Amino acid sequence: MTELAKYKMYINGEWVESSDGGYFTSYNPATGEPWCQVAKGTSEDVERAVQVAHQAFENSEWTSMTYSQRGKLLHRLGDLIAENYEKLADYETLDNGKLIREMRGQLQYIPEFYYYYAGLANKIHGDTLPIDKKDMFVFTSREPLGVVAAITPWNSPLYLTTLKLAPALAAGNTIVIKPSEVTSASLLELMPLIEQAGFPPGVVNVVTGFGDPVGNALTSHPLIRKIAFTGGTESARHVVHNSAKHFSQLSLELGGKSPNIVFEDANIESASMGIIAGIFGASGQSCVAGSRAFLHKSIYNEVVDRIVTRTSNIIIGDPMSPTTEMGPLATESQLKRMEHYVELGKGQGANLIYGGKRPAHLKKGWYFEPTIFEHTNAEIRIAQEEIFGPVLTIIPFENEEEVISLANNTNYGLAAGIWTNNLARAHQISKAVRAGIVWVNTYRSISPIASIGGSHWSGYGREGGVESIHEYTQNKVVWMNTSTEPMADPFIMR
Ligand code: NDP
Repeated sequence: MTELAKYKMYINGEWVESSDGGYFTSYNPATGEPWCQVAKGTSEDVERAVQVAHQAFENSEWTSMTYSQRGKLLHRLGDLIAENYEKLADYETLDNGKLIREMRGQLQYIPEFYYYYAGLANKIHGDTLPIDKKDMFVFTSREPLGVVAAITPWNSPLYLTTLKLAPALAAGNTIVIKPSEVTSASLLELMPLIEQAGFPPGVVNVVTGFGDPVGNALTSHPLIRKIAFTGGTESARHVVHNSAKHFSQLSLELGGKSPNIVFEDANIESASMGIIAGIFGASGQSCVAGSRAFLHKSIYNEVVDRIVTRTSNIIIGDPMSPTTEMGPLATESQLKRMEHYVELGKGQGANLIYGGKRPAHLKKGWYFEPTIFEHTNAEIRIAQEEIFGPVLTIIPFENEEEVISLANNTNYGLAAGIWTNNLARAHQISKAVRAGIVWVNTYRSISPIASIGGSHWSGYGREGGVESIHEYTQNKVVWMNTSTEPMADPFIMR
């Protein structure tokens, strides 16, 4: 048997074993077989990485760099990712099973995020305030926070890391990243590019391993000033609890149960394709998956027919093949989760109209059919809980008031799709749905210029856009007394 590739952790610009020398295995979802081993981090490793990142923030060439110099490093990193995108995409597909076409597309676009934040790096500035006090000159500046802890999930490893890494570095912070234990390889493969770009040792560090102990130790650490977390609600609850120990700032990008609403005046062909793309793209393993379709009664049958017809032609198989349209799920537990939810749906009276099982023609790997339920009860669990897989629920509606109430009837508030050719309706429904991102006549579009984020169980804070810089800086107000007069009596208020 050939020996598996072995990945160490990256701390202070060096490749290091974990403190106890342990490794864990990473599996290829397309075959279900192991493909590499990754250092299994411990609390001691977290301690080492955070101390190093703290040192790098306190006194290193990083701190003395100008914002323009930092921007240039980010720009160079973007170029290096562009040069290496194919290799990085291969590692992501090996780890999470998503289509190589999708991962290559994502990796080709990721440099744009580094260029965007490279450009923003020297535009982080404060203000002078028109203060209402005589002889006072008051200005503000935005300062970096210190050591940032970034915690990421497995579905888009480098994209979701980039949303944290690029603004954190542009603002002058240092960072310790814990990737999902399911997908560590692509982040570790990025580290040589970080070095080549010229980031000093200790500015970017990676501790691989599990939520417990690595994630817990990192998010509880007294030197962590900000935690940027993307993941599920249960892990987020632990992170919130941990952050309270030392009042670390927090941004949470969590899950969703996003509505995709089709009105009777929509372009029915586009809307049907948009619904399929919204839920079966990435095998539904996307925080913004449009997992609840709401169809106006007058076009209900036609849209359902179109969706089922195209879904039945989806090519499921090897994610490395350029013709495959849906790959496997990332883990075996994800597969079991789908089977569990299908049983729940059937048990609660939903009508399974397509899929619902593992595809018969694929004997190995963690594949699951695209699955469609129809139902009218919006309270059942498959319509309320984030399944994070290729399971669509379809519900009919009669009017705007009803669909707004249905769309907002979950704990989540991340994304929403609206399909209509009525401009006034598009504006009104965009305003009425509870979501941080609304797509009208499109779905899943992203850009470094537009932020993402949600509310309620979908989390808080924003990633992307100019707002993100504010998440990685804090305001300082400086008061200067410009009067040459001696200080007045201390008990006279000025
Ligand atoms: P998890 O919540 O299971 O894990 C996310 C990360 O948190 C992993 O790195 C995990 O480590 C870590 N973690 C787990 N427990 C703790 C803890 N106690 N303290 C600190 N860190 C911890 O999510 P998944 O990886 O399963 O990803 C799927 C979820 O991510 C979905 O809910 C999805 O909606 C959400 N998501 C949200 C996005 C958004 O932008 N809003 C984008 C993509 C996904 P470990 O390695 O042990 O798993």
